[in-house]
Amino acid sequence: MKLKGKVALITGSASGFGRAAAYLFAKEGASVVVADFNETNGQEVVKNIKNNGGEASFVHVDCSVVSDVEKMVKQAVQTYGKLDIFWHNAGDAGPGIISQVTEEQFDRTIAIHVKGGFFGAKFAIPEIQKSGGGSILFTTSPAGYKPSPGSPVYSMAKASLSMLTKSLAVQLGKEDIRVNCIAPGPVATGLWERFIDRNPDLTSSEEYERDVIAATVMGRMGKVEDIAHAALYLVSDEANFVTGTVIPVDGGYLAK
Ligand code: NAD
Repeated sequence: MKLKGKVALITGSASGFGRAAAYLFAKEGASVVVADFNETNGQEVVKNIKNNGGEASFVHVDCSVVSDVEKMVKQAVQTYGKLDIFWHNAGDAGPGIISQVTEEQFDRTIAIHVKGGFFGAKFAIPEIQKSGGGSILFTTSPAGYKPSPGSPVYSMAKASLSMLTKSLAVQLGKEDIRVNCIAPGPVATGLWERFIDRNPDLTSSEEYERDVIAATVMGRMGKVEDIAHAALYLVSDEANFVTGTVIPVDGGYLAK
């Protein structure tokens, strides 16, 4: 029970990494706030957690809208009386090459990943301060390190999250609020499928997956649980001297 008595708010937890982490954090004793704009899937996650004896509740949020993000944090605190852990993990596949990107697509991508993370942290920090410390987490991507000509906007958005991580870690360290970031390697989630669909240059998902697998050291795609376990470590007391860092969980993709 590594998170016994903690309240954890995870955006994008109706699917993929966030969902796997919601299950794991609840199993480890946290009350989990499942925050997402997919209400059907989010409620399903809550139901599954409760059926397994855990505690969870759903909050509807569009992370690209600041007033929604503020309400999300308020609702979490109203439900459980406090907040210890905030993970901005919601995200979507980016649009394509620069010549094809519209202003609307640019704004949307930056809003979900960057604005949602920035303002989520802004509203979560005072609540975590009231708890006497805690943990903030963001989800970046290897595309935040290596250039991604196929979606430069996604790369830009993800790169900025690692600098947000470091900036907040420096500000909040003395208050015992740790701020870290995960860079997940390739995992076949809903986002992965959408990424493949949006890239007309990719002849087939199988071919693309083969190339990506070849780019890892371990010769395989990751699993959502691989990311969830890294997140659990980073938000738990086991990582209580870890802050301001970005941890790749990518089968060696960035090392190669
Ligand atoms: P996913 O599609 O399975 O889950 C993303 C969740 O975010 C969904 O439940 C979706 O409804 C939600 N969401 C999207 N936009 C939202 C918004 N504006 N407001 C509220 N909820 C919203 O994808 P995933 O792979 O689990 O993605 C999680 C994070 O991991 C994302 O930030 C993504 O960029 C990042 N990532 C994924 C991969 C990968 O290979 N899958 C690799 C690197 C980074």
